[in-house]
Amino acid sequence: MNHRPMALRHHHHHQLQFTLQLTRKINFCQSCGGPTKHEIPNGEENMRAVCTVCGKIAYVNPKMVVGCLIEHEDKILLCRRKIQPSYGLWTLPAGYMEMGESAADGATRETWEEANAEVDILSPFAQLDIPLIGQTYIIFLAKLRRPHFSPGQESSECRLFALDDIPFDSLAFSSMLVTLKLYIEDRQVGKPKFHYGIINKRYSSFFLICFLHFLVFLLSLCCKLEKQKKIGHHRHQTPGTMKVLCMWLLYLIFSVNQPAQFRI
Ligand SMILES: [Zn+2]
Repeated sequence: MNHRPMALRHHHHHQLQFTLQLTRKINFCQSCGGPTKHEIPNGEENMRAVCTVCGKIAYVNPKMVVGCLIEHEDKILLCRRKIQPSYGLWTLPAGYMEMGESAADGATRETWEEANAEVDILSPFAQLDIPLIGQTYIIFLAKLRRPHFSPGQESSECRLFALDDIPFDSLAFSSMLVTLKLYIEDRQVGKPKFHYGIINKRYSSFFLICFLHFLVFLLSLCCKLEKQKKIGHHRHQTPGTMKVLCMWLLYLIFSVNQPAQFRI
């Protein structure tokens, strides 16, 4: 019997699918190297990878991304990424929190690594959860200790942007877009305050795109069969393959550009 409210049950279904996807990738035990099996352990609700040798359960939990929103003379410091993902796009200095450090320490370190900038943390500004990819962002307001910064290893460029000049068309992550929008809204009405929110990537359109991919695949298969019928078993399908590749690319670009929803 399931007594959860409908909305929660619906949400739980997606969560289950998600953890299933993640645990499917864990094929070997991290402590003994034994092969794992995938099951819902007794008393739990989610699919886990369980070691068939030592019985250890590999728990997969969300990751914490920490970063700084640096204010300097009414401008904001952004870094242009020199690494994948989102190569060439702008972001606030941010990255995965390491073991043994606080969120504020991590944000300071990431700022040093990506922008060679020493900062003082002023206050937490936003916590943004992205359940669908298992990430939580914590962004701090910070100020430069001295007005020095330059691109670090992972950046090709670091620049101060006036609020009107922020390159919203070429931001790296939905979390940065939401953070900067919230910040600008706050500044328009007064002082920045703390925000908590959830970013939902649009998985409905994701499924639509999967379906389109499948259609294109079917189409290409039909074309191939037709051609093979016509010219015996000769392999001369370059134009068709190119067409299919182009279509795939189009769909991929379309899928990457899907905006994220945001709620508080
Ligand atoms: Zn094991």
